[in-house]
Amino acid sequence: MTATSTTADSARTGQDWRGTFGSVMMGSLAVPAVMLDHGSGAYVWDIDGKEYLDFLAGIAVNSLGHAHPVLVEAVSSQAARLVHVSNYFATVPQLALAERLLRITGAGPTGRVYFGNSGAEANEAAFKLARLNSHGSRTRILALNNGFHGRTMGSLALTGKPSMREPFEPMVPGVEHIDSTIAALEAAIDDTVAALFVEPIKGEAGVVDLPEGFLAAARSLTSRHGALLVVDEIQTGVGRTGRWFAFEHAGIVPDAITVAKGMAGGVPIGALVTFGSASGLFTRGQHGSTFGGNPLATAVAGAVLEEIERAALIDNAARRGAQLRESLLAIGSPLIAELRGAGLLIGIGLSEPVADALAASALRHGLIVNAPNESSIRLAPPLIIGDAEVAEFDRRFRAALTDLDRQGA
Ligand SMILES: *Cc1c(COP(=O)(O)O)cnc(C)c1O
Repeated sequence: MTATSTTADSARTGQDWRGTFGSVMMGSLAVPAVMLDHGSGAYVWDIDGKEYLDFLAGIAVNSLGHAHPVLVEAVSSQAARLVHVSNYFATVPQLALAERLLRITGAGPTGRVYFGNSGAEANEAAFKLARLNSHGSRTRILALNNGFHGRTMGSLALTGKPSMREPFEPMVPGVEHIDSTIAALEAAIDDTVAALFVEPIKGEAGVVDLPEGFLAAARSLTSRHGALLVVDEIQTGVGRTGRWFAFEHAGIVPDAITVAKGMAGGVPIGALVTFGSASGLFTRGQHGSTFGGNPLATAVAGAVLEEIERAALIDNAARRGAQLRESLLAIGSPLIAELRGAGLLIGIGLSEPVADALAASALRHGLIVNAPNESSIRLAPPLIIGDAEVAEFDRRFRAALTDLDRQGA
């Protein structure tokens, strides 16, 4: 049976499988444009053999690109030792990763780490942290309009997109969404607020920057009123913006950050890192996860973070980000209205609502980019890209734009 089904599966084309998708997968996901098979560096190939330059990296996840030897070695050597042990036991990779995270976040010896398996889980832990900061009277949690924090019920309650929340109401109570302005912060924060959740750059909203001075104002207002400042670094963290974490650009120290996407280069993991006194809020038995902090995920994350340091990929993110911005501006297309984001998290603001068509055109030209909404293209390539990938992006993106013009004409 295995032999025949293997043969049958390998004989099916991408088109065949896309047909299968709708009859086996839950209706919550759109039918994907292509079926991918393997990758190497910044490139992936679909099951029909077509090559793509991957400038999305699984939504800022594949930090080291695809099939990086460091990641392959970390997965295989750890899989041959221990994959899972439960939280009744600890392992060296887990504690070494916690130490490393406390170092690179700057949380240091007064910081603490909780491991989960995804971004949403990291934010669920942060949500519980916020409730523990309630002291009876702090009933409100603030988050930003248009922010994204995940799809589970707690993280969804934090997410500032009414259309995502409405089908699942009633929401977990206590969350209020405010505009991303310093005036809105000043109006909303008082001693009834337990925590403020902030994305330093709103990735899912189309890579939208916060106003100048926003994080500094958020820090001083939350400190003054005893509220926690929780920075969601799930998309912006781990070197992507040209610093280990995006909050560093603002020169602030948060009470907690959540980390996930790029941390283990594609192996599922999430973490909540607390700073200073927030580290004492959780007490024994108040949170946990069966898979969280398992030796496989933590060994791979440790190896990925070590490689990011060894190969100076944070500097590379800053440098290649600047190079990409230059080459995008040099195209001189009237469709490119503005460039947002930092380092290798780039939002291209379009002057017309054609992002889906442009992303589809790019795909036809062998380039993976993403359209988080109709007027934005998001680029989040692997942190390993060099001159050759930047040049290849330029060629393929120009071709995609030209093709779009031709269709529009
Ligand atoms: C992706 C993302 C999440 C959710 O992470 P999952 O791993 O999909 O649960 C939360 N916050 C931000 C800012 C994200 O980009």
